Amino acid sequence: MDAGRKRELEAKVYAGERLDAADGLALYECDDLAWLGRLAHHRRTELAADRVMFNVNRHLNLTNVCAASCAYCSFQRKPGERDAYTMRVHEAVAKAKEMEGEQLTELHIVNGLHPTLPWKYYPRVLRELGAALPGVSLKAFTATEIHWFEKISGLSASEILDELIDAGLESLTGGGAEIFDWDVRRHIVDHDTHWEDWSRIHRLAHAKGLRTPATMLYGHIESPEHRVDHVLRLRQLQDETGGFVVFIPLRFQHDAGGDPRNRLQARTVMASPAESLKTFAVSRLLFDNVPHVKCFWVMHGLSLAQLSLNFGADDLDGSVVEYKITHDADRYGTPSTMHREDLLDLIRDAGFRPVERNTRYEVVREYDPPVPLARRRAEPQQVWA
Ligand code: SF4
Repeated sequence: MDAGRKRELEAKVYAGERLDAADGLALYECDDLAWLGRLAHHRRTELAADRVMFNVNRHLNLTNVCAASCAYCSFQRKPGERDAYTMRVHEAVAKAKEMEGEQLTELHIVNGLHPTLPWKYYPRVLRELGAALPGVSLKAFTATEIHWFEKISGLSASEILDELIDAGLESLTGGGAEIFDWDVRRHIVDHDTHWEDWSRIHRLAHAKGLRTPATMLYGHIESPEHRVDHVLRLRQLQDETGGFVVFIPLRFQHDAGGDPRNRLQARTVMASPAESLKTFAVSRLLFDNVPHVKCFWVMHGLSLAQLSLNFGADDLDGSVVEYKITHDADRYGTPSTMHREDLLDLIRDAGFRPVERNTRYEVVREYDPPVPLARRRAEPQQVWA
């Protein structure tokens, strides 16, 4: 990028002017990571100062049985496969209860599209989880699952959301978004929930008072044009509803064990750390009306998660005790367990002030800021894998 274009983009960012698609593409073409980081960090600091939010949650996957076979997914199993599982309601509750001592504030529940489970199973699970873990927020189901419930129940998404909210649903999850552009989507997604239904369901959830996350799966067969298009669709919907609370770029994972279900890995390389930092920075700058950008450390590793906090991210997910969807694919050494104290250290070691939040991004507890690194040189430093 020439110096003139850089000055022009910098002026827009510092004046708080909205960037357009051409600006987003120009930013992706720029390899000056330090400069991109400075712009994104400026915007991130305007919104969040030196705070990094986190929550203490548990990811629960009720079933890995799925009627679809998305090309990037090594989680799904077909009915009757040896390691296919579906939790009975009491098993799901028992699994969640194991975490009680962790003082968790949120359960994050996503599942395969089970071909035969009745619709009524889902509100029942929410009700029983809510009764067993009072005070724990239930963030559950992707828009894809809500669309699936419409098909298996004959109810409308509005009726489904009403029943789930009545059963204790506090937020949808942001999954199922992947990449919205059809030229990419038709090669990677094997269900029929695309932009039209995904956005319809989130719009509906926002109208019912839920605030929801939005995700983007990058680093496979998409190009920067598709990432820019994806974010701008979300930005336009956010202009309309104001209901998105956070944007989460998710790095496509290869399966080190060569799981044949993950059909995309044969023709892709995973996004490099530099590409990931660029994606965080450009997302923060383009998606100017979303309050938070989250790094899901399970998909990036802990060192990159720390760096992402200087490239636009201000939220870390989470205190995950077990996360099956990623960890069926990821055997690169990232731990599957982080507890509250680990996250506090991780955030402070990166130079930020930890703030614990709940599902609605309300502050649960503010923690002390970090001791500046210059004053800690004599102490042993933790290396985060
Ligand atoms: S991504 Fe979700 S819908 Fe697609 S195959 Fe995996 S579990 Fe099923």
